[in-house]
Amino acid sequence: MEIAIVGAGIVGVATAYELACDGHQVTVYEQRSAAAEEASFASSGLLAPALLIPWSSPGVGANTNNLLWGRQPAFRMARGAGLAEYRWLARWRKAGSAPTAMATMRALEQLGRFSVERTRRLIELFQIDVETCHGTLVLLRGKNDMRRLEPVPGLLHEAGGALREIDADNARLIEPGLSADAPFAGALHAGEGEAANCRLFAQVLRYAAQEHGAQFRFNAQVQSISTQPTGLQIAGEPAPRRADAVVLCAGLASAALLRKQGLQLPMAPVYGYTISAPLREDTHAPQGSVIDPLHRITISRQGLRVRVSGGAELGYGGGEHHADTLQKLYLALSGWFPGGAQLSSNQVQILRGARPTLPDGAPVLGPSGLPGCG
Ligand SMILES: Cc1cc2nc3c(=O)[nH]c(=O)nc-3n(C[C@H](O)[C@H](O)[C@H](O)COP(=O)(O)OP(=O)(O)OC[C@H]3O[C@@H](n4cnc5c(N)ncnc54)[C@H](O)[C@@H]3O)c2cc1C
Repeated sequence: MEIAIVGAGIVGVATAYELACDGHQVTVYEQRSAAAEEASFASSGLLAPALLIPWSSPGVGANTNNLLWGRQPAFRMARGAGLAEYRWLARWRKAGSAPTAMATMRALEQLGRFSVERTRRLIELFQIDVETCHGTLVLLRGKNDMRRLEPVPGLLHEAGGALREIDADNARLIEPGLSADAPFAGALHAGEGEAANCRLFAQVLRYAAQEHGAQFRFNAQVQSISTQPTGLQIAGEPAPRRADAVVLCAGLASAALLRKQGLQLPMAPVYGYTISAPLREDTHAPQGSVIDPLHRITISRQGLRVRVSGGAELGYGGGEHHADTLQKLYLALSGWFPGGAQLSSNQVQILRGARPTLPDGAPVLGPSGLPGCG
């Protein structure tokens, strides 16, 4: 089949690779000049276990009474947020306590496991280093932090994952860089947890897909998709391009492209930040990834860098960075791992990226119901 893919983020390049390996004629259309320039650039790179990744599901750690207000609000409304964002938040809150929430979380964990297994196999096959680090520690200040994680530990055990509860001394054996003054009583340790450089992996996959015949058209913005005949319209081109099927992997933009076809996806951008800084002292830096469930902050090793991520904003906010959130991330990194990263280096990179999120946290996979559009 001739298949057109919209978007060359991690989802688009992985789809292109798999479809090209299956013998399809694949063309990827990407509006930017390279792969993984949007959400896939900013990811903190946590691969597993899926449900431990902050914001993976509304049913986890959702202190629903405290979404916007209180001492530790889960979300912040950025400039420009309006009724649509408040409505979306209400749906998110409802989805977290819906009777179907547990089933969705189980499905997410299974999908995450499948995806990590496939990623591992590809990394082995390509024999590449994508800055993978191993082991995930969830730091627990006390019983409240444990409550915040419910029902994840039970779901992980059910899915066959191992999550050990350990005391602070044992956590420090795993992460010797953790500050001696760090305020935690113990941790949950997922030995199978992994993090890697998402952008790097996407770039490698792009070349692998090309080797299998996939074509990439960069600087090609898809303005609309069409059915009967199936195809897409690229900005600046006189006529639509035809394909046997179109796969939408355009992140946030997928919702807008589908809207023109009469399909409504309640997808919202939940903006977050990552700060990446060069390593200062190896033994003072994280060896794997560490999650602070109270602030929903993750800190992970990415090769010769340390990356800290967090924040959840609704509303575009003019693309401006929120100074208080960034300050919180800096403090988390220097508080948990003092001396681990060169925070004053001019190589520090700060990114604000959008997590394309549906209220129940699950991705939209499969046929759209429109002829020829998956
Ligand atoms: C701060 C932060 C931390 C995160 N941490 C994690 C984590 O630890 N683990 C995890 O699993 N996930 C994490 N995520 C989420 C993860 O980054 C995203 O789920 C993932 O990158 C989405 O990939 P994608 O390919 O769907 O979207 P994108 O990477 O956004 O790719 C979509 C592509 O489509 C292109 N496009 C859009 N519209 C058009 C158009 N009209 N025509 C042509 N091209 C178009 C865009 O240019 C873009 O390249 C994080 C996200 C953020 C922001």
